[in-house]
Amino acid sequence: MSFSKKLPQWAKLLIGFVLGLIFGLIAYYAFPQKTNSWMEPFVEVCKFAGMLFLRIIMAVVVPLIVSALILGVFELAKGHGLGKVAGRSIGFTVLFSGLAVIIALTLVNILRPGNGVTFDKEALAKNAGVIKIEQNAKVASTKTWQDYIVDLIPQNPIDSAANAFSGEIVAVMIFSLLFGYALSLVIKNEEDHPIIKILNAIFDASLKVIEWALKLAPFGIFGLVFNTTYSMGGGFLGNLAAYAGVVIAGLLIQQFIVYSSALKIFGKVNPFAFMKKCREVYIYAFSTASSNATLPVALETADKKLNIPDKISRFVLTIGASANQNGTALFEGITVLFVAQVYGIELSLGNQLLVVLMSILAGIGTAGVPGGSLPLIVVLMMQVGVPPEGIGLILGVDRLLDMCRTTLNVSGDLVIAQCVSAGVPEITNSNDADIVMDVGAT
Ligand code: ASP
Repeated sequence: MSFSKKLPQWAKLLIGFVLGLIFGLIAYYAFPQKTNSWMEPFVEVCKFAGMLFLRIIMAVVVPLIVSALILGVFELAKGHGLGKVAGRSIGFTVLFSGLAVIIALTLVNILRPGNGVTFDKEALAKNAGVIKIEQNAKVASTKTWQDYIVDLIPQNPIDSAANAFSGEIVAVMIFSLLFGYALSLVIKNEEDHPIIKILNAIFDASLKVIEWALKLAPFGIFGLVFNTTYSMGGGFLGNLAAYAGVVIAGLLIQQFIVYSSALKIFGKVNPFAFMKKCREVYIYAFSTASSNATLPVALETADKKLNIPDKISRFVLTIGASANQNGTALFEGITVLFVAQVYGIELSLGNQLLVVLMSILAGIGTAGVPGGSLPLIVVLMMQVGVPPEGIGLILGVDRLLDMCRTTLNVSGDLVIAQCVSAGVPEITNSNDADIVMDVGAT
């Protein structure tokens, strides 16, 4: 009992994954026909565990996304006289996230890590039923581009929220962005306005529920992985390694090509000298897998080693910890396409563009905590007709990838702080900064 309490969460997930894999493989090779009636109850129990885990996560997706996006944009737009800083931060966030997702989609389309997995579709159907995905696939594939644009604006946000899993989640996200911006114009000088307090509470409570879901996760992952391996066999292990390799390659390209160029062109510094000064932040981000937990170290580095004016670093880094997650955006793009490839689903160009847009938005709306991107991946998959239970395939390697993408997330915040500060030389360091941020928030 105390042994399991001492185990870190990522180790429990790994154990669930490995056990699901081993038992699934044994069952796959022991009962190739999959007609053994006594296996049925076990498959059903596994399906139940997987369903429960995914449902708890999905239950808080709408409140989580709505509160995170409204608060993110509200903070960004508020900016206290830092209009130029806020504007540039938004511009760099969209640019870097967009490039990250384009790198992701290019790599995953060329290297196709999910190709070549053969499996028994009928047996896999046992895993289905978590959510009715056929309907979403149909919604996503029959739209014209005009429909896509019009559908970005919800006719009725409540209605769109109710239909979030039937193709309307993007409309909910866009509405939240607009609403957050509108709020920043209406609430001028009241930092602790009741609506902001309520949204913060909704955000925190949603994260709490995700925490509960993660407690159940080792069992849910066992169930999902067992059923998937039982129907697919062991062939996909090589695919999984290839997938992790593609994610890491994408992160390295973003760090060393995109960020280096940006630091040189916009930040006007030597990229390698800059990255050397950030080493401590990278190590901290890698080991905690949390942008929020790394924030104090990032702030100190920006101040003491990079000499970025405190007004800029406090603003960009504090908000960037949640609202600028390029590594997460890249990871989400690759993951959705990888799972689609494993299931043999070809995503149309329109759906791939939707993945780009949603991954960028997801990078803005993801909580900077370990596994913060999981709820959004589930939504993204459903939106483009990829079975959400496919997330079980990658959860066993997620902690490692989380550590890597978090490092890029935090690195991106520092790069933006540098690029922004080089563009507004009139803002210099001050001891009495007029923006007060809750630096200790984790
Ligand atoms: N762990 C990431 C972060 O804190 C978020 C995620 O991608 O899950 O930046």
